[in-house]
Amino acid sequence: MPGYLDPGRGPSAAIRMHGCPVPRCAAWLPASAFICRADRRLVPAPLWAELWRTWDGGRGAATTDHQGACRAAIEAAVREGTCATESTRISTVS
Ligand SMILES: [Zn+2]
Repeated sequence: MPGYLDPGRGPSAAIRMHGCPVPRCAAWLPASAFICRADRRLVPAPLWAELWRTWDGGRGAATTDHQGACRAAIEAAVREGTCATESTRISTVS
């Protein structure tokens, strides 16, 4: 699949950026980051642990387990429904 994960397309490869995978989020991230920090806080710890477990240091990147964990984490962040791009709402959490 061509795109931001495509290696070797010029000197910017090492700092390739991609959009936060949460659909409503406008944050841009380095390739090493899965999700922006604001959305990261919305992902429940068990889902985040599963994400890392299935990632397995990169070896699990292409597995359906890991892709399922990614989707679950993104969906959780979507459900929680706030983001760095809506910082005014973060401050209203009580
Ligand atoms: Zn985000």
